[in-house]
Amino acid sequence: MKTIIEPFRIKTVEPIRFTTEEERENILKDAGYNPFFIHADDVLIDLLTDSGTAAMSAKQWSGIVDGDESYAGARSFYRFEKAVKDITGYHFIIPTHQGRAAEKILFTILGKEGKSIPNNTHFDTTRANIEYSGAEAVDLVIEEGKDPNSLYPFKGNMDIDKLEKFIHETGVENIPIGMMTVTNNAGGGQPVSMENLRAVRDVLHKYNIPFFLDACRFAENAYFIKLREEGYGDKTVKEIAQEMFSLADGCTMSAKKDALVNMGGFLALNDDKLAQLARNILIVTEGFPTYGGLAGRDLEAISQGLDEVVDEHYLRYRLRSIEYLGEKLIDAGVPILRPPGGHAIYINAKEFTPQIPPEEFPGQALVCELYRFGGIRAVEIGSVMFGKKDKKTGAFIPASMELVRLAVPRRVYTQSHVDYVVEVIIEIFKKRDALRGYKLTYEAPMLRHFTALFEPIG
Ligand SMILES: *Cc1c(COP(=O)(O)O)cnc(C)c1O
Repeated sequence: MKTIIEPFRIKTVEPIRFTTEEERENILKDAGYNPFFIHADDVLIDLLTDSGTAAMSAKQWSGIVDGDESYAGARSFYRFEKAVKDITGYHFIIPTHQGRAAEKILFTILGKEGKSIPNNTHFDTTRANIEYSGAEAVDLVIEEGKDPNSLYPFKGNMDIDKLEKFIHETGVENIPIGMMTVTNNAGGGQPVSMENLRAVRDVLHKYNIPFFLDACRFAENAYFIKLREEGYGDKTVKEIAQEMFSLADGCTMSAKKDALVNMGGFLALNDDKLAQLARNILIVTEGFPTYGGLAGRDLEAISQGLDEVVDEHYLRYRLRSIEYLGEKLIDAGVPILRPPGGHAIYINAKEFTPQIPPEEFPGQALVCELYRFGGIRAVEIGSVMFGKKDKKTGAFIPASMELVRLAVPRRVYTQSHVDYVVEVIIEIFKKRDALRGYKLTYEAPMLRHFTALFEPIG
């Protein structure tokens, strides 16, 4: 088989800045050992997130110049609406400045004290928006999805029995909506099968509960379905994506992922009453319905991006580049969440640094060392992000997994960048016994990982 190459050539470049280990030690200290506080100019390879970090194509940039900035009824809105409808099939398309704005609108309408909203695994902003509304966010991913070593092909699937049980225990009247996140970001970027989406739809609709997708990585999920699910090998990714959306009643979307843009999102849905309520909130919080939270130029870039993201040469390269990083780490014995997901590799920090207990944040320790030693920025997805305190006793409740996510921006880094990342991780792995834990010195009440401050222990 021939090497799967980047299906593009590079037209514009952006230099990256080299720093010394000594400089990075000071930078890390000044940042309170939280990578979110490191200046991006001080990062060599930035794998903090795949969100809003894509390189846009020449056609997207030409759309930026072509954007119609009329307040109402802009040409760019109609192009955007057509592009989103073409893939999702939904009737009402509501542009927002990013994914969480769509979530905020949806849960302002549907969430409140006493309500419960199931998902395979809620992403952190989704969970935060649900909890902010007073409702409860419930994760019902299959058991395989929680096992870092299971090679099950669709580890993002929801446990249908758990869903039935959840509905019986919670009461249909307390469940305003059910969701599925494709791919399952908080669960390792693992895909959801069409069969499972259909089963979730059947259960929710049996009880007249609306079903929404958190569709941020719909194209990556669709390509996994093409590769792994019986009966989909000969379908185009676009057809598969259309079928996924057709099973649900609407979606929230962060265009910063699979629309290949740096800013944007939308809420799309079929229910006209819900759309009306959503637009009323949109006007107060985001903007007039034909631009929402976006400029006309952003709408152009999203429209073009949605067309490019379902290109199968792109998706083959995209998934292969993540798998390549994963394979090299597995070969070196580095414990990672398997199989590799669609947008990121997740190092299993619990196994990487077993000497650090969860309450001393093994993932954070590895994140700090990746930066200190290699100038690589990653993010902890473990007890810093999802750990809790028992409401009564104050006792520490760890997250179910301690992961470090290496999220790969779309179309940004080349194979030699990835090879460098592999070398750095293997070098740290060899010296892993020397890693020590961290303690929190500041935390905000919600989404604490963004602003937390730490100190190394010992
Ligand atoms: C990024 C993301 C969101 C939130 O989108 P933003 O554009 O960052 O607000 C919601 N859900 C999932 C699964 C995501 O990956």
